Amino acid sequence: MSIHTLIIGAGGVGNVVAFKCAMNAETFGAITLASRTLSKCDAIAANVRANTGVEIATAKIDADDTEALIGLIRQTQADIVINVALPYQDLTIMDACIATGVDYLDTANYEHPDEAKFEYHEQWARDEAFREAGIMGLLGSGFDPGVTNVFIAYAQKHYFDTIETIDILDCNAGDHGYPFATNFNPEINLREVSAKGRYWQRNNNGDGEWIETEPMAIKQVWDYPEIGPRDSYLLYHEEMESLVKNIPGLQRIRFFMTFGESYLMHMKALENVGMLGIEPVEHHGQQIIPIEFLKTLLPDPASLGSRTQGKTNIGIVAHGLKDGQKRTIYIYQVSDHEQCYTEVMSQAVSYTTGVPAMIGAKLMLEKKWYETGVHNMEEFDPDPFMEELNRQGLPWEVMELESPEALRVE
Ligand code: NDP
Repeated sequence: MSIHTLIIGAGGVGNVVAFKCAMNAETFGAITLASRTLSKCDAIAANVRANTGVEIATAKIDADDTEALIGLIRQTQADIVINVALPYQDLTIMDACIATGVDYLDTANYEHPDEAKFEYHEQWARDEAFREAGIMGLLGSGFDPGVTNVFIAYAQKHYFDTIETIDILDCNAGDHGYPFATNFNPEINLREVSAKGRYWQRNNNGDGEWIETEPMAIKQVWDYPEIGPRDSYLLYHEEMESLVKNIPGLQRIRFFMTFGESYLMHMKALENVGMLGIEPVEHHGQQIIPIEFLKTLLPDPASLGSRTQGKTNIGIVAHGLKDGQKRTIYIYQVSDHEQCYTEVMSQAVSYTTGVPAMIGAKLMLEKKWYETGVHNMEEFDPDPFMEELNRQGLPWEVMELESPEALRVE
């Protein structure tokens, strides 16, 4: 049976997914890239053809329109839909997959455009409908969420009887030379970092609770291998929501991301003048949403690739018990922005998201990861995914640490 793959979203991540699926064409078969702006799909298809020799089809789609999606899925005879549009489109695309009986994968959980709040609730609620349709939905198959969940499942499988604490550490030491730009969709990025921080821990009664902090209130300095010490701020991040359910015995989980002083200064100023607002404001008789207008002004993340230098390092520090002994394991992956660009014409943030999206879809098509219903990454055997990471451009390392604080400088 010949396979048909439909990729939705022609941004930075969509570009990487298109390249990587084409580089694994024996698995993905006939590939179609669809997005709101057809010219972006055509430009990516031309680059994919020039670099890999593989021809991919393109289509125009408004992924907010479930009926239009159903039509496109039928027309392309898709066996799987890889959703790398924006989190706002998750539910319409999932509903179209239910209606057509086609497997689904995404890299970010659903967000309502009018409310800066992201959670799995509405996607998990479709679990039964996915089971009834006999299809699988894989949620959050990017890097974080995505590979971080797989790293934790791998630590759990091979290094621990019980994981007690987890710190997820996300460092981007890339420099694009602009005073201010975001490495992926500015709206999603700025909504994420201007939100309150949150981490989870078990209280004295053994009940898990979320502790909220002011945005960027907790700063620690971690020493990232191949990069060095960087200011890292506690943020809420979506993979924690599924991990607290799926890692038994967990006592605490936190997420840290690095930000430079210049980035934070710009962000604070933009926030103070109202440019991060998501409510419409009237301007010369026209309604505009400040953060959408800001997106128009900022460099397109897809254009940063050719000018970004430096590395990313994303990993997890897990601490817990093995055979009654305490131990700490660090699993991490380092990518180089320029190397990523040389391979697929995208910087490392898009690369480290797009490659795992392709790998998740590959394992689903090969039925190595396959269970009907809606699932998160840590529910599956991590080993085949970890092998693919090494094979497909995201090699990782495991390090035994003396303590969970061993990489911390301040
Ligand atoms: P971009 O903004 O670069 O690209 C998004 C693409 O989706 C654009 O091509 C855009 O349209 C298209 N799109 C938006 N709305 C619609 C619509 N209604 N119908 C059809 N297409 C639409 O974002 P990125 O590529 O940087 O990010 C893609 C996804 O990856 C996001 O969901 C983001 O949150 C996620 N992500 C996940 C990470 C992880 O590690 N898990 C890390 C980074 C990102 P158009 O064709 O008009 O340009």
